[in-house]
Amino acid sequence: MAIRKEREDYIWITWLAKLLSGETVCEWKYWFKTHYKYEKLPEDKNLISWQTKHSRMLSELKRKILDLGRTPLVEDINSFKYNFKDICLIGGRPDLIDIVDDREVTIYDCKTGNKNKSDSIQMLLYLFCLGEERYRDKILKGILLYSDGYQLSFDKIDVSDDFLEDVSYFAKLLITHTSPLKSPSTDECRFCDIPKSECEERTE
Ligand code: SF4
Repeated sequence: MAIRKEREDYIWITWLAKLLSGETVCEWKYWFKTHYKYEKLPEDKNLISWQTKHSRMLSELKRKILDLGRTPLVEDINSFKYNFKDICLIGGRPDLIDIVDDREVTIYDCKTGNKNKSDSIQMLLYLFCLGEERYRDKILKGILLYSDGYQLSFDKIDVSDDFLEDVSYFAKLLITHTSPLKSPSTDECRFCDIPKSECEERTE
């Protein structure tokens, strides 16, 4: 049985990225995650191979940066909670942060699957949240690394006012007490960890 969260304005960055990209159309899914704690369905076995690939990519990246004589920041030290326009707290944790020198910082995120629009949106959100607070006085860059060697680079300047308006729209949609529509479909529900006991419309 799901229980209400103490804070109902804490939004994980990937939820926003999925909604903004249109890769997830079931708005109720992330609304529910924002407001409730619940027992999640077990992880898909296919995610194990994703996880091992990701761990290896990250380890190789760490080694590369260490070889350059720098100490990469990884794991919880990269976690943040950013007060987004007094609407909500956006939480996230980039894979690796490289403090290049006194002026420049690079955020890395490793991706092992297909190249999705949400990957780029997630990086723009990292650049905005970390660039407004923790690395305010730095030249902040972002690099998406894919397992096939493809790379995409971003600068904080890529974060436009229009983009932030759209982030505000979805952030407000998630924190409101009026629940948005569910959009059950085989494609949506099979990647969703909310059990049928919480979402009767779940399509198996
Ligand atoms: S199970 Fe399907 S309909 Fe229910 S929240 Fe998840 S994606 Fe939406």
